Amino acid sequence: METIHHQKTKEAFLGRHEWWEQETISFRCPKCWLRHFQCYCNYMTERKYHYDTLFGQNKTFKLEVYMYYHHLEIGRSANTAHIFDVLGESVVIPIVYGDENAEARLMETIVSEYKQGITNTCILYPNNESLLLSDWINNTVIQSFPTQETSEPSSNNLILPPIRIILLDGTYPCASRMAKALLNMREAYLLPEEVLPFVKLDLSENGLKSAVAGIMYQPAKFKICSYQAIVLAIQQIYETFHLPCSILVTDLLQDLDNWLAYIVKAKIKLTKTKPVTGIEDVVDQTPANFIQEIVKNLTVHPNNLKPNSSKQIKSTDDNQAVPAIRRRRRKRKKTIPTVVLVSTRKFRVFSIVYI
Ligand SMILES: [Zn+2]
Repeated sequence: METIHHQKTKEAFLGRHEWWEQETISFRCPKCWLRHFQCYCNYMTERKYHYDTLFGQNKTFKLEVYMYYHHLEIGRSANTAHIFDVLGESVVIPIVYGDENAEARLMETIVSEYKQGITNTCILYPNNESLLLSDWINNTVIQSFPTQETSEPSSNNLILPPIRIILLDGTYPCASRMAKALLNMREAYLLPEEVLPFVKLDLSENGLKSAVAGIMYQPAKFKICSYQAIVLAIQQIYETFHLPCSILVTDLLQDLDNWLAYIVKAKIKLTKTKPVTGIEDVVDQTPANFIQEIVKNLTVHPNNLKPNSSKQIKSTDDNQAVPAIRRRRRKRKKTIPTVVLVSTRKFRVFSIVYI
């Protein structure tokens, strides 16, 4: 196995893993990541069966989504990727940045396919070298797949090339580090650039409005949340293969809205209705209608809302839900004693004094 991570990354991954195990013992649901009294799993379990059916409808096509989480995303209640992960369980394989065993298994699978002449894995990440997703499928995947008739519609019962897509889930600086790590892995496993390329969605010049507008700020017109990105990627893949997907895509996007409405109503995430200056000319920051409706019905102005419920005090969320008292206590614990060096002429030595 090739070691590609810095020791600190491996330790950070293990630390987060350990923290999450403790959190899920009594505070949080391991599936939806919310506190038990807020658990969203009943709804999602029902919807998961619906998506199992939709994803399973095309027997001639196999899709695999590697949800590549940055370890800091694990347990973030407002993370959207893990909602797709639960709903699309039949096509998703989650792995975490820094988990070298899981990363090595993925790379070894790609290497083994490459040795058979198959190239079907891409990284969904827009950068300077990214290819358009549909171009990559047409020019590389279909060409590399053993059965050349696969560009025909599946009505002929031809087997279509399987597609594996790696989605980077993290803040933009974290995703950039993860992309770099994948580049290092590609080199370490001696894979040519075209075997594990970066791809981007085929969006118009105007970019796309984020589905989470009104809850989280969209930093730029091409930057959308992970859930939205993977649904659009699936739409583009299905359309490239002429597979029907309108119900799948519409339902998935509706379930994203349902989830967002839930976390706003439950005050897990507060709304951000004030536009940020400097980006309003390129990004439409108007909250979606359903968010505006929720805000209208709130008795308190959203900017004055505080995550309430005393039960929340029992957990250590990374978001704004950690009460001030708990934060102060944690801070004091971490305080390093001030060290003063005192010179004593008599002994010509320095004493260390803690104050
Ligand atoms: Zn749950």
